[in-house]
Amino acid sequence: MSEAEPSPVRKSGPAFRWEGVEPRPYKDAGGASFKAISRQTLFSDSRLAGELRYFEIQPGGYSTLERHQHMHAVMVLRGEGECLVGERIHALCAQDLVTIPPWTWHQFRAGEATPLGFLCLVNAGRDRPQLPNGEELAALRARPDIAAFLDGPGSAGPVKKGRP
Ligand code: MN
Repeated sequence: MSEAEPSPVRKSGPAFRWEGVEPRPYKDAGGASFKAISRQTLFSDSRLAGELRYFEIQPGGYSTLERHQHMHAVMVLRGEGECLVGERIHALCAQDLVTIPPWTWHQFRAGEATPLGFLCLVNAGRDRPQLPNGEELAALRARPDIAAFLDGPGSAGPVKKGRP
C-alpha cells in the first residue's frame, strides 16, 4: 500500500476508551439540558449508512430529554440506570437493548453508584433533536413517575435541582 491506511483494528484501552477515538462533547449546540455525559464516535464512515457511538453518563448524570424522527438502537455495556421511552420508565443494566422509535421522548439517566455506558446506533444522516416545549414538558411531568424520573435520584419530594 502506498498510503498508510488506518488499521482495521483499534484496540480497546482501559475504562471504555479506544485507540484513535477521542471523547467529544456530548452536544455541539447549547440550549439542551444534560449533565455528566461524554461521547465517543466509534464508527463513522461515508460508506456506512449508520454511526455507532459510545456514551457514558457519570453517576447522577443524564442525557437530553428529546425526540426526533431518527431512531436509536442502544445496547448497554456497563453500569446501571434508567431510561424514559415515551411514557414509560425502564430499569437498565449491562447488555440490555433499547429501541427508541421515531418521535418518541427519551432520556437516559445513570444510577447513583456506577457510570452508565451504552452503544448507540443511529443513521449517519439524521434530523436535529427537538426539545419539549413548556406544554409538552408539563404533560410529561403530570405523571408522578415521570416527574420523579426527570428530577433524578435523591429528589423525591418537592425539592429538586441544585442538590448534591
Ligand atoms: Mn436522541
